Amino acid sequence: MPLTAYTNIFAGNPLDRASDRRSDQAWIAEQFAADTTLALPVWNGAPFIEDDGKGGVRLAYIPPGLAGELSAGAERLLFLGLWKQTAVFAVDLEGPADPAAAPLAGLGRFEDLRGLALRLPETEAAIAATAKGVFEWRRRHRHCSVCGQPSMVADAGWKRTCPACNADHFPRTDPVAIMLAAQGERCLLGRQAAWPKGMWSALAGFIEPGETIEEGCARELKEEAGVEAVSVRYHSTQPWPYPSSLMIGLIAEVAPGDAAPNDSELEAVRWFTREEARALLAGQLDGAFAPPRLAIAHHLIKAWAEGF
Ligand SMILES: [Zn+2]
Repeated sequence: MPLTAYTNIFAGNPLDRASDRRSDQAWIAEQFAADTTLALPVWNGAPFIEDDGKGGVRLAYIPPGLAGELSAGAERLLFLGLWKQTAVFAVDLEGPADPAAAPLAGLGRFEDLRGLALRLPETEAAIAATAKGVFEWRRRHRHCSVCGQPSMVADAGWKRTCPACNADHFPRTDPVAIMLAAQGERCLLGRQAAWPKGMWSALAGFIEPGETIEEGCARELKEEAGVEAVSVRYHSTQPWPYPSSLMIGLIAEVAPGDAAPNDSELEAVRWFTREEARALLAGQLDGAFAPPRLAIAHHLIKAWAEGF
């Protein structure tokens, strides 16, 4: 039965991850050897794509034999899961030279995932985000964080082990609270100086050790805008592989009172009515606009504007 949940961009990966099979090396090798197996090249985080013949794009898979040549061993291979009976792998290609020039000439091209996210079918964006997330972790965790020795890939790319101290290391998923603060019939958005001129978005921050999601949300609202959260509601989450975040989308009711930006984080905060929030999303509010549909902030603002 399908899981009933709000699906943000990068969520909704349709593959059966078959996570209980990852440690079965013989089974993984058998899958990788099958003619029907698909492999997705990812170059420095950018997935391999091709035109779909209908004006759009789709992921461009290559045969496992070619992926095996490119990976030169298990270190850069990832078992993504099963699509029905078909095994799907990804291969992490690093380095300055674009493999689409050679050895993948004529088979597709690499494009940045952020630019592709709204052009790929949503399920394919989620598959590419999963591969990117694991590979970003792999590239940042080549050494054991316990003893400092080089670590080795295990569980078909989903684990690293240390041959020196036997520590196991698993891919990181770092929780970030992203919250729309609301005070009755108005909501609070902020902007950072580095953002595109006129863009307003929800406030956000990493959850710290020893904090609940609600406590992290309340702390960030207090620190960044000087407002006091009195209740926190969950909306949805979004995998965000830049490099390893899980965005936890919240709507927080805050106590009556004014807001003020913390200069080190935000250059300004501003209240919007529901009508203004709808206009902001539609790009019809003078000089101000919301983040694109790719971002969970867009969906938080939309949900609140529509009465969530
Ligand atoms: Zn170690």
